[in-house]
Amino acid sequence: MSLLPVQVEDQVRHEEALPPGGGQCKSCYKILRNKGSLYTHIKYVCGKEKKFQCPYCPLKSKIKYDMKKHVSRIHPEMSEAFLEIFDRLYCEY
Ligand SMILES: [Zn+2]
Ligand SMILES: [Zn+2]
Repeated sequence: MSLLPVQVEDQVRHEEALPPGGGQCKSCYKILRNKGSLYTHIKYVCGKEKKFQCPYCPLKSKIKYDMKKHVSRIHPEMSEAFLEIFDRLYCEY
């Protein structure tokens, strides 16, 4: 298992390949399945610095929710304590 972000090289760049209700990011041409994930991608993911650092391993995430998910899955024993400090650490977000 690799912690490195996977760079998809063969992203589809044809408008007609868009799934119904989905959208394509104009910056990286990534195709998102629906408007919600497209919005999340543009607002929080695309071109953004990875903002959230896991305190228990080198993993970083751009999305707060993903970091919570990561800790509860990978460090379940730390999950409770983590959630307690997490909102304080990133309360501006
Ligand atoms: Zn993008
Ligand atoms: Zn971790």
